[in-house]
Amino acid sequence: MGIEFRGVSKTYPDGTVAVAEFSCTVPSHRTLALVGTSGSGKTTLMRMVNRMIEPTHGEVLIDERDVRELDKVALRRSIGYVPQAGGLLPHRRVLDNVATVPLLNGVTKAAARATAGELLEKVGLDPALGKRYPGQLSGGQQQRVAVARALAADPNVLLMDEPFGAVDPIVRRDLQDQLVALQSELGKTIVLVTHDIDEAFKLGDEVVILKTGGIIAQVGTPQEIVAAPADDFVRDFVGADRAERTLRTVDHGGRRVVVDGDDRPVGVLG
Ligand code: ADP
Ligand code: MG
Repeated sequence: MGIEFRGVSKTYPDGTVAVAEFSCTVPSHRTLALVGTSGSGKTTLMRMVNRMIEPTHGEVLIDERDVRELDKVALRRSIGYVPQAGGLLPHRRVLDNVATVPLLNGVTKAAARATAGELLEKVGLDPALGKRYPGQLSGGQQQRVAVARALAADPNVLLMDEPFGAVDPIVRRDLQDQLVALQSELGKTIVLVTHDIDEAFKLGDEVVILKTGGIIAQVGTPQEIVAAPADDFVRDFVGADRAERTLRTVDHGGRRVVVDGDDRPVGVLG
């Protein structure tokens, strides 16, 4: 069970080969991170899952069913999608943005709003913000709303396209931590797209590093990739110095702070 890409290719009408013969399986309740530079076919691959893009060859299966056999509209509503730039409706209040899909699925307005309020809390927002319009929130808050909206219909599958790409590094780290915590509670099957290898390693149970043309440079757990980069391309992408970034702890006000070889803090020992 899970999501399976089976030999998918995508050639756009202008002849651009975005993805060539890509195969990969995402087991249920796990997170796959697709990582690569701009134009490596990440968005194209992700959108094949909810049929926003149809592959030229090959097929995508969810729980062993070819997505082409499924009704497009029903499929899209059953999959949570966090697009690259939030995609919130600017003229609808935050609460109503989150409640959109449950309402389309026939849930009553009161029930949809109640669930939406709970979800806002779950993603770390004060439910009182539900009354605001998206433009009245910070970029990081808007991304939290986008995650809440994607979760509103309680989908098994969540697609996230560079969900935290447009926020500053500190907020970004906070959003990543929140997603890790949420995922340990919810156990969705997630395909996450990012150009940031650190984000891929932090959030992905399995990571696929893509080259231009949707070619797999390496697939594996973060540990496997760091331990044995497949080639120079992967070594460069992962950061040649990563293996040498030996960690040590320093004492700071009675807490043990973990720092890397450049004395950059990476965390606190609990
Ligand atoms: P990524 O998400 O990794 O940046 P994309 O999947 O968006 O990459 O794009 C992969 C390649 O396909 C790029 O070369 C891009 O320019 C091209 N591409 C994407 N969408 C289209 C389209 N609708 N028509 C033609 N080429 C496209
Ligand atoms: Mg993209």
